[in-house]
Formats: sequence, structure tokens, C-alpha cells
Amino acid sequence: MADIGIPILLIDDDRFMRAILSQTLQDAGYLVSQATNGKEALELCRTNYFPIILTDWVMPEMDGIAFCRAFRKKTAECYTYLILLTSQEGKDKLIEGLEAGADEYLLKPVNESELMVRLKTARRILDLESSLQKSLEEIKQLSIRDPLTGVFNRGYLDQHLPNEIRRADRYVRDFSLIMMDLDHFKKINDTWGHQAGDAVLQHCSRIIAGTIRREVDWVARYGGEEFVLVLPETEQAGCQVVAERLRNLIATSPCLYRGENLSITASFGTVSRAASDSPDAVTADTMLYQADQCLYQAKASGRNRVVGSSL
Ligand SMILES: [Mg+2]
Repeated sequence: MADIGIPILLIDDDRFMRAILSQTLQDAGYLVSQATNGKEALELCRTNYFPIILTDWVMPEMDGIAFCRAFRKKTAECYTYLILLTSQEGKDKLIEGLEAGADEYLLKPVNESELMVRLKTARRILDLESSLQKSLEEIKQLSIRDPLTGVFNRGYLDQHLPNEIRRADRYVRDFSLIMMDLDHFKKINDTWGHQAGDAVLQHCSRIIAGTIRREVDWVARYGGEEFVLVLPETEQAGCQVVAERLRNLIATSPCLYRGENLSITASFGTVSRAASDSPDAVTADTMLYQADQCLYQAKASGRNRVVGSSL
């Protein structure tokens, strides 16, 4: 049965009415919770998510309309379908109920088959809403990720690096950044083809992802074969350790491509800022420029090495 396990909150001050409706809903496979007025229901909703709520109109403490208004005021991640139960006499006030945030209404006494049809509509709306949320999340990921490697793209870096720097300054934290560039990448493309080049980029992205701290550090593809690693709360010594570990891993882990082991190395430029109570204003551009300068030195002095600096 499709309805099994969907939580429903039933709000009614009439014990008899609650008993009947709750039995009907349970028989249809719903997981029913109950509240005797709007206030009690709001309290329940603070710690529980109910995809569907059935609420009576006239209740002590907080009535159905006040509940709908208060409930819709709080921001929710997932949608809740609100059905208002009202008596025949209350029918002319329905606009008020719908304006307060109810999606639908049912006249009391509730007709069982009508209730089931309304719940079916509710589930259809909820399904649509969740697939819409899923699509939005996918679109968001597509817009911030590099499709080849899955790491963040340049746009994400441009947008979020300034925030990271501001956060480090505000909370007086160390902050480091690594710019990494694969050595002789053009040669790989020229010798083995662009698919080999793509495989090498994916291979290196996986190594980077396995080296940095999850949830704290992040990496973006900066250019063709260039990556920027953002390391919040990391001082220069720690940043050097990360860069050196990465350099070593890449140099000692050839990329397997169509039976060939493609050897790769990478060069690194790092820039670190020590936590300070009165930090000099520094922009993302300045940090990237400084890291790029170090990277250039690493390249000029023989590649496969790390050159560090502080700002
Ligand atoms: Mg009532």
C-alpha cells in the first residue's frame, strides 16, 4: 500500500472525532499523531515533520486558522499539505482559512471516501514538490561543479574564496591556500590524447579529495590543469605538510590509462595568513596572485616541488 508510513498529524479538540478519523487514517496505512489544539500541534511540529496535517477549525487555546498562520510562518525544508476541517456553517469563512495557509478543506462530518481522495491529492503535490527540490539541487550542483572532475568550478571559487577570507579574519583564524599545477600536462595530451589528459585530471582530483579534510577544506578547478585548494584554519607549517604530501602522492601514484601507467608530477605554490587581531585587509585576488607567484617559482626551479609563502 502506497500510504504506508506517511506521518499525518490530526488536530482536533473533540476526542470522539479524533478517534474516528485516526482509525480511518490508520486503516489506510498512515502513521497518525494527534494534538488537541493548535498550540499543542505547533509544539509537536518543532521536533517532527508531518507531510500532511489535518486540522479542525474551532478549538480552544489556538484555533485552526491561527495554527495555519503560525505554521506557515516558520520556514520549512519540506512542504506540508494542510487540510482544514470545517462545519457546514463555517463554509462562508473558507477564504479566510485558505488565506491563512490551508491547501484544502473538508466539511464535517468527514466523508471517508472524500478524505481518501483529498489525501491522494496531497501525496501527489508532495511528490511533485520533492522531485522539484531534487531537480533544483541537481541544477545547483551542476552550476557549481566542474563536470569532468566533480570538484568545485572557477565560479564557485570566485564567489566563495572572499567569504572564506572574511570569515578567517572575523574569527581570528589561520588561513591557507594552495595553487597546484600539473607538470608537462600538454605532453600527456600530445602523447596519449585528450582522453588520457582527462583521465589524469580525474585521477589527480581523487588524490586531492583523499588528502584534504572533509567538510573543512575544499578544492576548485582553477584552469585547465590547475587546482586551488582552500584550507581554512591552517597555518603555514600545516599547509606545507598538505602540499608536500600531495606532491609526493601524485609523483608516486601513476595514472592507469588503457593499460599504461602515466607518470605525473605537480608543482605547488602556497600562501598562508597567520591569525591576527588586526589583519591587513587582503583580497582573494591578492592571495591567488601570491600563490601563483610561488607556483611560478616552483616551476622555474625544476617542477615537482612546493614553494610556500605567507602574507
Ligand atoms: Mg472543534
